[in-house]
Amino acid sequence: MWDTVMTSRQQQRVILIGAGMAGLMAAAVLADQFADVIIIEKDDLPRTPQVRKGGPQGAHVHTFLGYAVEAMEDFLPGIMAELYAAGAVQIRRNKDIWFDDAAGPTPIRDAGILTPSVTRPLLEHVTRQRVLALLNVSIKEATRFTQFCTDGNNDVSGVKVQTGDNGMEIDSDLVVDCSGRATTLPRWLVDHSYGDAERPELGIGMSYTSGLFRPPPDLAGDTWACLMLAIPPNTRAAYLTPVYGELWLATMYGRGGDMAPREAEGFVEWTKGLAHPIIHEKLNRAEPVSDFRSYKIPKGFWLRYDQMDRFPRG
Ligand SMILES: Cc1cc2nc3c(=O)[nH]c(=O)nc-3n(C[C@H](O)[C@H](O)[C@H](O)COP(=O)(O)OP(=O)(O)OC[C@H]3O[C@@H](n4cnc5c(N)ncnc54)[C@H](O)[C@@H]3O)c2cc1C
Repeated sequence: MWDTVMTSRQQQRVILIGAGMAGLMAAAVLADQFADVIIIEKDDLPRTPQVRKGGPQGAHVHTFLGYAVEAMEDFLPGIMAELYAAGAVQIRRNKDIWFDDAAGPTPIRDAGILTPSVTRPLLEHVTRQRVLALLNVSIKEATRFTQFCTDGNNDVSGVKVQTGDNGMEIDSDLVVDCSGRATTLPRWLVDHSYGDAERPELGIGMSYTSGLFRPPPDLAGDTWACLMLAIPPNTRAAYLTPVYGELWLATMYGRGGDMAPREAEGFVEWTKGLAHPIIHEKLNRAEPVSDFRSYKIPKGFWLRYDQMDRFPRG
């Protein structure tokens, strides 16, 4: 099934739909395999790190696991150094992270794993610059993927895209769908008689509200981060982490409709309901310096393309 992917270089062209982290990292991987790597992105991409329409989750804390650091370094050597130079804060797990779960606060000890604390827009920005420095990779921004093209065998032979009023078709040997939750692939597979992808779902009823704070002078430059889980029946969790060297990004997670307010006073007041008072004590002394943004996820789902009997080539 995957023979179109696995044949060694040099196939001609791969198209990636979406310039989020999946599209960017897939481009870094496939740049070794294909002569021409084109990323199609519907957003006008910002020239500086900013939350954008196609990545609304970017306003909220994104944390790295150790393996992600290794994987990104494998494909884009030196990327961590570039992230730190651009403002990421190095977190020594778990010496710098205060982790509170059902067992209470964990002992602070050094696990020997270094991960960057970075906003999602800065991560994407630095990764995008690196990927675009690869000579065979390009991004068509402000361009919307509209449809897969098919050949006489019902296999995928390219994409139709729309830039403003102009539509065009681009041929390719392989298309990779990195459009995230917006994907239209399941519908396409049904319409082209490949069948339904199984889709196990998990209701999580999660809402997120986030804002940036300036720490009080005695805590400026501190690398302290805190992940506080919701211990049932409590519905509130939080992640506070240093970003840009001088600010804190605070994300509040509420379940079942318990969403933190989108204004500073109510936001800080909401943190009184967390399992432990430490985040409230810190934020109460900090200065809010951004607007507050929210995002809701009623459920998570997993599209099991890997379980399908038939899947199109290309
Ligand atoms: C609040 C929140 C917190 C999270 N925290 C973490 C965390 O701590 N650590 C972690 O690893 N993950 C975290 N995640 C998950 C992480 O954000 C996602 O797994 C990741 O962003 C998915 O990346 P992606 O590139 O697959 O999709 P996306 O980031 O959704 O990117 C899809 C891209 O496709 C583009 N696109 C969509 N449709 C089209 C189209 N028709 N034509 C052209 N372009 C199109 C979009 O504009 C976008 O740029 C979190 C998610 C949320 C919501």
